[in-house]
Amino acid sequence: MNKAYVTTLCNGDGYVPGVEALGKSLQAHGARASRVVLVTPDVSDEARGRLASAEWEIRDIEPLENPNPKTAQLFERFQGVYTKLRAWELTEFDKIVLMDADTITLQNIDDLFERPGLAAGPDFFLPDRFNSGLMVIEPSIETFERILEALWDTPSYDGGDQGFLNILFSDWYAMPVEHRLPAGYNLPHFIFQFLRGHPHLKEELEKEAKVIHYTVQKPWLAKATLTGGSEAWWKAYFGEDPGRASEWKRRWHAMEDWTFDHAVAALVR
Ligand code: MN
Repeated sequence: MNKAYVTTLCNGDGYVPGVEALGKSLQAHGARASRVVLVTPDVSDEARGRLASAEWEIRDIEPLENPNPKTAQLFERFQGVYTKLRAWELTEFDKIVLMDADTITLQNIDDLFERPGLAAGPDFFLPDRFNSGLMVIEPSIETFERILEALWDTPSYDGGDQGFLNILFSDWYAMPVEHRLPAGYNLPHFIFQFLRGHPHLKEELEKEAKVIHYTVQKPWLAKATLTGGSEAWWKAYFGEDPGRASEWKRRWHAMEDWTFDHAVAALVR
C-alpha cells in the first residue's frame, strides 16, 4: 500500500514551525510512511528548503478559495482552509493521513493506515460531527470532483472546510465504527491540558492521547492566550535539542499551561 502523512502550508510561511514540529513528532515516534507537504505559491523558497531538508516532500498546489468570504474576512486563518481538500487529488497514494499543521503526535499512529477512508475523530463543540484536523482519506479523483462540484453551493456551518466536509459526509456518524476514531487521535490542546492536570484521568491520558490539535492557540505564535498544552508542543519542536528553546519563552508558555502546580513549577524552576 502506498501511504503518506500529508499536511498543508498556505497563506505564506506562518505555519512553517507547525509543519516542522509535526514532522519531528512523527519521526520521533517511528512513523513509517512518507511525509508530504502541500504548498501554495505564496510560501517562500527559504521555507521550502527548510522543510525539504527535514525530509518533507514538497508538492506545489494552487490554493482552493474559501467560498465563504465573510468568515475568511473574520478569521484570517480561515482563508486557506479549503486548500487541504486537494489531498484527495493525490491518487498515487492509496491512503493518506491528512493532518493540520497545528497538530503533533505523542505516539506512533501508523495504525491509522488500517482505517477506511473517511475516518476522523469527533469534534468537541458540536455533537455527531467530526473534526477535520486529522482525517484518514482515500484519494480519488471522483471524490475530488464531487468536492469541487459541491464547493460553491454547499453551506459550511463554521465557514471553514470542517463545516463543508460534515455536510458532504453527513452520514459519518452512522458509518461503521472503523470510521470513527477515538478522541485521542485528535485532542484539542485545552482538553489535553485539562486531563493532564486531573489526578485521576492522567493515566488514561497517557494511554489514549495520540495527537494534540492546537485549535485555538498556536504555540509558536507566542501569544498569551492561556489555553494550555504548549509545553508538549515545544518539546516536539525542539525534540532532541531542548536547549534551543529560549528560556523565557518556555517559561512563559509553561505558565500558560494553566494548572496551578504547573505554573508554580515554571516559576521556581
Ligand atoms: Mn487545525
